[in-house]
Amino acid sequence: MKQLKERILSDGKCLDGGILKVDNFINHQMDPVLMREMAKELVRRFSGHTINKVMTVEASGIAPAIMVGDYLNVPVLFAKKKTPSTMDNMLVTEVFSFTKNKTYTVCVSGDYLRPGDRILFVDDFLANGNAALGIIDLVEQAGATLEGMGFLIEKGFQTGGELLRGKGIHVESLAIIDSLDNCTVTFR
Ligand code: 5GP
Repeated sequence: MKQLKERILSDGKCLDGGILKVDNFINHQMDPVLMREMAKELVRRFSGHTINKVMTVEASGIAPAIMVGDYLNVPVLFAKKKTPSTMDNMLVTEVFSFTKNKTYTVCVSGDYLRPGDRILFVDDFLANGNAALGIIDLVEQAGATLEGMGFLIEKGFQTGGELLRGKGIHVESLAIIDSLDNCTVTFR
């Protein structure tokens, strides 16, 4: 998506270890106009699917997910990274965080992720696909159906894209970065 790629080039910053910082428009300060356009594009790309719920993981996925949910007019469910003692009917899985280099537990209530739900997962980044695998596990535990996975930015030099597409999942990414070598962004 042209607007996103231009914004990555003008405002993205690269950190050591193949990390792209987009705190100026996605991860800290957010640009709602660009966010809305990105959500619209994701909805267009998944228009062949019947979706009754959008899922994401807190916190960075919530902004794009709620915009997608608004376009689709469906609820948005985010997996929580802490396990609240008050949650009923909890479904739990483990996710390894690439940026934080640690494993954490994520959970959702089975009251909200239900058998028969048709889920679109939305997140800001796809790197090695660990967050996505956690969501797949939760969707399976609930007996729901995964319709697709949409990302704002995919780092094509990491393994997540191949892993998820290899499972036959419909994956869409609005910008795919093939390299951040020498802090130069190279798009696919
Ligand atoms: P994965 O689970 O696919 O390995 O990593 C995706 C998650 O890690 C995303 O939800 C995102 O929050 C974070 N992440 C991975 N790579 C980057 C990156 O280069 N920049 C930022 N800002 N977040 C990243």
